[in-house]
Amino acid sequence: MTNAALYLRLSKDDKNTDESESITNQRKFLINYAKENDINIAEIYVDDGYSGTNSNRPDFQRMLKDIEVRKIDTIIVKDLSRLFRDYIQTGHYLEKYFPENGIRFIAILDGIDTKNEQASDLTPFKAIMVDWYAKDVSRKIKQVKQDKIKKGEFIGPKAPFGYKKDEQNKNKLVINEEESFIIREIFKKAVNGESARQIAFALTKEGIKTPGRSSHWYVETVSAILKNEVYIGNMVQGRVKKPSYKSKKTIKLKEKDWVITPNTHTPIIDEETFKRVRELIINRRTVKTKTLEYPLKGIVICADCKKAMGLVPKKNIYYLRCRTYAKYTKLGLCTPHSIRADYVLEKTKAEVINFIADNITREELLPFAKIHNNTDNLKERLRKLKVQIKDIYNDKLNGLIEEADFKDFYQAKKEEEIRIKSKLEILEGADVGEKVESLVDDFLNVNVYENLILNEFIEKVEVGEGKEVFVTLKNC
Ligand SMILES: [Zn+2]
Repeated sequence: MTNAALYLRLSKDDKNTDESESITNQRKFLINYAKENDINIAEIYVDDGYSGTNSNRPDFQRMLKDIEVRKIDTIIVKDLSRLFRDYIQTGHYLEKYFPENGIRFIAILDGIDTKNEQASDLTPFKAIMVDWYAKDVSRKIKQVKQDKIKKGEFIGPKAPFGYKKDEQNKNKLVINEEESFIIREIFKKAVNGESARQIAFALTKEGIKTPGRSSHWYVETVSAILKNEVYIGNMVQGRVKKPSYKSKKTIKLKEKDWVITPNTHTPIIDEETFKRVRELIINRRTVKTKTLEYPLKGIVICADCKKAMGLVPKKNIYYLRCRTYAKYTKLGLCTPHSIRADYVLEKTKAEVINFIADNITREELLPFAKIHNNTDNLKERLRKLKVQIKDIYNDKLNGLIEEADFKDFYQAKKEEEIRIKSKLEILEGADVGEKVESLVDDFLNVNVYENLILNEFIEKVEVGEGKEVFVTLKNC
């Protein structure tokens, strides 16, 4: 005759997460199981609000006493983790205590019933325990790493280029004389206005030692060095994390989530130089991306495979092309759907303008118009335009861009500058009626072309293989 103990447990943490773990559900589940398997229930033990890592649970202790007096010979739980959450305890009870006391153990959801197993075969338990153990170890290692990172101790396998690990203290960085002059050289070139590309090219040409195994300096390597605060004496760590202890993958964290500890080691570059270079990089980046900016980026999708289309330049003209086609050309998963990007933009703009004209009153448009015509925004835009115009001019002088591209870009920027200036004049004037008219007109005629406005109204733009353009507008 089997005399079974049903053991139920719910921790405080479980309460917020999973209704199926509730005591009522566990009870129902276990009683049904016992009935179906003709098992006699001798007693039900319930620990409500106790963690599985703690063996000082009242009903768990009561159950142990009942085992001693042979009141029960079987324990049934929903799953192993109801009984234990700790691999050391699990090992003790499952490998020693239960067998010694002749206890049959059933963990329903884990598919474990010791009656069915070879007495010594604890493989299923072991798998679960190993998993717990790994999690636990991984958590502890993570904690130690986090503590070190917070204290600004270096924990990487290899010091950043320009530094080496201190012989006495592996968690401290000291200057690597052989490499630090290269870092200084890179920053010097950058301050003199050389781009990362130009610097990488020069270093490679001169045969300068690289951080990796390649003899070639990559643009990305130079950019990363120019942006790395480690060179002004700050420790930058925690830039990646693992999604779980099992995963080999790492996830790059956003810059704002990095752990930066100031003044942990001797700087190679002074802060002034570092700041100056950062500004140069940011300005340069604005120009480079602006030339490629396409207001519908990411919104245009292939009508057949529904994937976002990519921009492909061909002799100064940009085309949109199906990414599936580009990626899997040989597999024939989709067709090119190639179409001029400016054509799609014009077609889309026309639809948006028609939609606005038919459906939205001037009053309704005012809030949109206001956002885009606020004087602070306009002034900021004007300032940026000046920088961009200066940069594009320098790029032309340095032979970095084609004459035709320069003309187009320069003209567009100049026109925008004039437009913004005249708008500012109106906005800063006194006539309120004129202001409103001006805002809405501008919105309808000009700004409707801009990125943000388009995004306010457009849900998606689909392109068919026959160059058809279907615009879907948001419900506004
Ligand atoms: Zn496609």
